[in-house]
Amino acid sequence: MALVNPDFAEELQAFGVDTALECFNCGTCAAICPLIFEHFPRKMIRYVQIGAYDKILQHAQELWRCLHCGLCTQTCPRQANPGELILGLRRYVVHRWRRA
Ligand code: SF4
Ligand code: SF4
Repeated sequence: MALVNPDFAEELQAFGVDTALECFNCGTCAAICPLIFEHFPRKMIRYVQIGAYDKILQHAQELWRCLHCGLCTQTCPRQANPGELILGLRRYVVHRWRRA
């Protein structure tokens, strides 16, 4: 069973993740991402939106596959800035790992 935190998106603002709620899950970022990997990065943004922080921690290593190419951010129709969101999620994960 997934653990969810309805305040998660707000909590992430401290890590520079403040545009996740702009995303309307069109999938453009996942289609253009050169990783072509399980709907990345869209799925990570969706996890933020629904507060599924345990899923982000469970799939945390995927965050380090991002190439910082910026294609997702350039093509996002909602200015959700998915590339920057991935970087912010890395900061969040490192913070959690340090506390563990
Ligand atoms: S392209 Fe933008 S709006 Fe579409 S799924 Fe990705 S982050 Fe969300
Ligand atoms: S910045 Fe990262 S997530 Fe975005 S398209 Fe490039 S590799 Fe994929």
